This record gives sequence, C-alpha cells and structure tokens, in this order.
Amino acid sequence: MSSITRRRLLLGGSALVGAGLISAIPATPFTPSMKLMRSALGAEISPPDHVIRAHSNENPYGPSRVAIQAIVESIDLANLYMDDPTDLVEVLAQLNDVQPDNIMVGSGSSEVLNVAGLLAGMARGSVVCANPTYQALVRYAENAGASIIRVPVDENLGTDLNAMKRAIKKDTKLVYLVNPNNPVPSVIEKNALREFVLEVSEKRLVFVDEAYHEFVSSSDYSSMMDLIGQGQKNLIVSRTSSKIHGLAGLRIGFGFAHPDLARKMIQRRTGRLNIMGLKAAYASYQDQEFQDFTIRKTKESLAIVNAMCEELGIRYIRSEANFTFIETGIENEIVQAKMLEHGIMTGRAFPPYTKWARISMAKPDEMRYFVQVYKKLFA
Ligand code: PLP
Repeated sequence: MSSITRRRLLLGGSALVGAGLISAIPATPFTPSMKLMRSALGAEISPPDHVIRAHSNENPYGPSRVAIQAIVESIDLANLYMDDPTDLVEVLAQLNDVQPDNIMVGSGSSEVLNVAGLLAGMARGSVVCANPTYQALVRYAENAGASIIRVPVDENLGTDLNAMKRAIKKDTKLVYLVNPNNPVPSVIEKNALREFVLEVSEKRLVFVDEAYHEFVSSSDYSSMMDLIGQGQKNLIVSRTSSKIHGLAGLRIGFGFAHPDLARKMIQRRTGRLNIMGLKAAYASYQDQEFQDFTIRKTKESLAIVNAMCEELGIRYIRSEANFTFIETGIENEIVQAKMLEHGIMTGRAFPPYTKWARISMAKPDEMRYFVQVYKKLFA
C-alpha cells in the first residue's frame, strides 16, 4: 500500500468516495432499525422493536459505510487464503508513527492479549493486574501456567499504580494495565503511568491495553504508543478495530511492540486473519468522519445516562470510553434480569462491585428509553 499519503489518511469517508478511491456506498448502514416513538404527548417512549445492546461495549452505528463497501467488495475473495496484512499494517504504522515491524495484527486484540498471556504463562511466573479489569489476558496466562496477582482499584475505582508496583514479585513476568480501564471507564494519570511503564519494563513485560483510546478526551490521558516509536523494549500497546470502528464481528486487533518482541508474538499466533476484516479495517482507519461521528453520538448517550445518575443521586464514573459504570446499589443480576424483561441487555457483574452496573452506550434514543425503564423499575 505504498501509494497511501498522509493527506489520504486524514480524509474522511466521503472524501475517499469523492476522490474515487472507494466506489459507491450503500445508503443504509446494516444496523437495527430504530423505532423508538414518543407518544403524542411527547412524554413516554414506546418500547423499541429490537433488543437494546447496552452490555458489550459495541459500536451501535458501525461498521462505517466505507467499511461496509470494502466488506461487500471482498466477499468474492472469501475462497482465497488472502490474509496478508501488509497494507493494513502500513496504514497503522503511519497513523501511529511507528514502523511496520512494530506491529502484530491479531484476530481481534484478544489474540494479542492471549499471545502475551501465553508468553507470561510459558515463563512460569506471575502476572499483576488491577481488579476489576478486562480478564482475557490474565485468564489465558493462568491457563498457560502463570499465577495471577489482582490489585484492588483505589477508593475512586482508579487503577492503583503504587499498589501494583508493591505487588510485583521477583517472578512477575508481565504487568497488565487497561487504559481507560474496563469496567471502570476512567484513565490513569499520564505522568504517573509513563514513570511506571519506564521503571517496571526494565525487568518485565508491561502490557498497556488501549482498546478505548479513541474515545478519550481527558487531558490526564496519554497513550504509551510514542514509547514504541522510540524503541522501548518490554512494552506492548494494544488497539482494536472492534470498538470505535464497529468491526467487533470481523476480528481485527493490533499489538505494538519493539520489533524483536513483535516478531516473537507473531510466531506464537494461533489463528489466521480474514480478508473481510483486513479490507474493512483498512478502509475504516482512513475514515476519520465516522470516528468523529461515533465519538459525538457516544458522548450524547453518556450525557443522557449521566444526567439520570445526577438526578437520582447515583454514583457513577466519568467515562472516557463508550460505556459507564454506575452504582445502582442493587445486585447486578437483578438489574440485568429486570432490564432484560424490557428488552435491554446490560453488563455482567464485576465482583466485588456486584452492586454496580456497566452500561454500554447504545444510540441516544435507546439510552433515553433505558433511562425511562430504569427510573420506573428502580427510582
Ligand atoms: N481489551 C479491552 C479492554 C476490552 O474491553 C476488549 C473487549 O471488550 C478487548 C480488549 C477485546 O477486544 P477485541 O478482541 O474485540 O479486539
């Protein structure tokens, strides 16, 4: 994909179409139809004609139209072993100011997490992570032979770097950080994080999972990607096309690391890539318009849920991602079951925070309906 230029990378989807780089695009995205009607008096919102997915941190708008077009065009290639990620890797390298040999493409970032977990497990040491946090890497590491040291988040539910540093043992092979965290959608203060990464990675791997990077607006946040560009060893940063790009079902994710480490990870991959995911991600990462649109709508949805929390006096975490975490004060399985009776799926429980609920952002009208149902049931 040598012909790609910086300018093209910065162009939005419609600009790509206009320039003839991506041909005609279907007018309607393949997303569930929205029929959330207000009543004649404008007060009640009637139930939707579909289940509202507020449980899995997906993008309710995606894939973007340019990605859909790329998928449609690549269907005819589905009979071929065409899984060379070179074009996509070049786009990601340019966008992130790293070299192509810094990048592992995986079947979702889950595969990158699993490979890192496998490396830690094969080394027969321990893995340190926050609790709660995303579990894929630690579960894989545990199954591969590692022991897991879970460090509780602090009183504000923030990742406690000092406590994590204290928890590191001689045999610790990997420290896993998620930024913004999941299910707690807050960020780790950037200077403290950088200091931690530089110090801790002197003797062991540090993995910074940035699955929700694109949604962050806080000035407290900084990606650790620049350290990869500077040649930092023992550091892995992951990103995914599953969240802001709305391609969760097509399984494309990325690990960024020093070339030696990236090569080691690629050698331990367990799956192969798929042509539709590669082509869709290639198109989507060049569609800044769609990403901006998703961020705008996500913030609109978050504002609706935040306002409900303010009104009802519910403690909630100011979100830097596409989901929120709210203290309902009710066992989460009850919240989940009751909301489901009204066609709304909400997040699973994250012990020990069993009286909190993780709510993923669906479309604003869907979140208005969520608020209406929640108030009726629990306020
Ligand atoms: N990392 C975090 C923090 C996540 O929340 C998720 C999915 O929800 C993933 C990684 C895995 O995403 P994927 O494998 O779809 O890239």
